[in-house]
Amino acid sequence: MRCGDAKEFVISEPIIISRDAHNVSRQHISQGALDVLYDLGRAGYEAYLVGGGVRDLLAGLQPKDFDVATDAKPEEVKDVFRRARLIGRRFRLAHVRAGGEIIEVATFRAQPRTPEEGEEQAEEALDDDDHMLDEGGRILRDNVYGTLEDDAFRRDFTINALYYRVTDFSVVDYVGGMEDMAARQIRLIGDPETRYREDPVRMLRAVRIANKLGFTIEAATAQPIRELAGLLTDVPGARLFDEVLKLFLSEQAEKNFDDLIELGLFQVLFPQTAACLHQDGVDTLIRGALRGTAERVREDKPVTPAFLYAALLWPVLRGVMEPVLADGQTLAQAIPELSGDVVAEQVETVAIPRRFSTPMREIWSLQPRFHRRNGRRPERLAAHPRFRAAYDFLILRAAAGEESEELVQWWTDYQDGRAPTPPPGGPNPRGRRRRRRRRPGGGAKTSE
Ligand code: ATP
Ligand code: MG
Repeated sequence: MRCGDAKEFVISEPIIISRDAHNVSRQHISQGALDVLYDLGRAGYEAYLVGGGVRDLLAGLQPKDFDVATDAKPEEVKDVFRRARLIGRRFRLAHVRAGGEIIEVATFRAQPRTPEEGEEQAEEALDDDDHMLDEGGRILRDNVYGTLEDDAFRRDFTINALYYRVTDFSVVDYVGGMEDMAARQIRLIGDPETRYREDPVRMLRAVRIANKLGFTIEAATAQPIRELAGLLTDVPGARLFDEVLKLFLSEQAEKNFDDLIELGLFQVLFPQTAACLHQDGVDTLIRGALRGTAERVREDKPVTPAFLYAALLWPVLRGVMEPVLADGQTLAQAIPELSGDVVAEQVETVAIPRRFSTPMREIWSLQPRFHRRNGRRPERLAAHPRFRAAYDFLILRAAAGEESEELVQWWTDYQDGRAPTPPPGGPNPRGRRRRRRRRPGGGAKTSE
């Protein structure tokens, strides 16, 4: 496959950073990852730690997982580790279970060829089922194996292409990653526009990784993003869903939100929400959700995509409900009726699996029920499996000026077992107004 490749004649010499010149220490590498590296070595293969694990260690952070790159083919990895599972089609990998962890073991790959690299190779690449680009230059499949050097150049950012070798504890750098590490910047390997066209998700990764490390995006890497942001619409929604979670269910959620807007990426991912951002309270509501999520991630508490999406799409739902509310429908009627449309439109870009969109819609549907505080209704609401999330969402809405603090306080007291003050005719003008609009017999309909 390398025949005719310019790199055959220009061999790049990597910089080898010896153990005493970098701060990657075996102590911080998980036992599972070390076992995989040693076992592959014993079986006669080259094996390196690469990607986020090395990058985070060099930046002084504890990585959340470790990726291994090797010259062993996936089937050979499976021969070494009987417990390995081969996964992926676009990108075939072995998952090796070691202790309680899963280590991703990827075979060295070569950079897909682009039409500029010569028609012959391009045709070969387009014909090749394992190594396909579409007409726009997007990588459809990426399973042509290569050398360590090839593997370095096909990675996204220079700081993601540093290889830690456990045989001599050195770091191998083909792409100037150590320099960018020192300069604290994210730089794409190669021509930025080409690399974004190959895989538009790299635009999202640039934002996420920069904020995770507190790095900046180097100017030439940042420059094409605004113009190319629209390419994200070609990316499968399920992949975008995963990336959005990495961006927003994170300690840097709010900074990621700011940067996505600044670079025109948020507008492509969430066009309906973006159109509402200027409205009163919307920014407060979304930031409240992102801050709360970041706080929970920091405290190692569970976070759910349902709550995040509830906040991102609530302003949209409010907008589409306006005409029917003006027509006299109640919130309890309008929410379940129209929330499906909002979801349907959103999943045109970013998928929302039903296991999250269903609870999201429940969080929405429970909102009007917080106003019904008579008789056994509070008890029934509090017993709903989504009550706690819905209450947290009520707090966000109150902070955004949509509901009164009195209502929130009432429910806080109720949960604390304090005798809540009797539901007042109360300082809740919006809720009251809506109740007054209710048609006879129409108020009983809820999401359930
Ligand atoms: P983290 O795991 O912290 O989210 P990461 O950089 O390790 O960050 P992974 O998705 O685990 O992200 O990818 C592992 C490595 O694979 C990356 O560091 C990079 O070298 C390479 N990689 C991942 N995604 C791409 C991509 N879209 N294009 C090119 N290389 C990629
Ligand atoms: Mg990783």
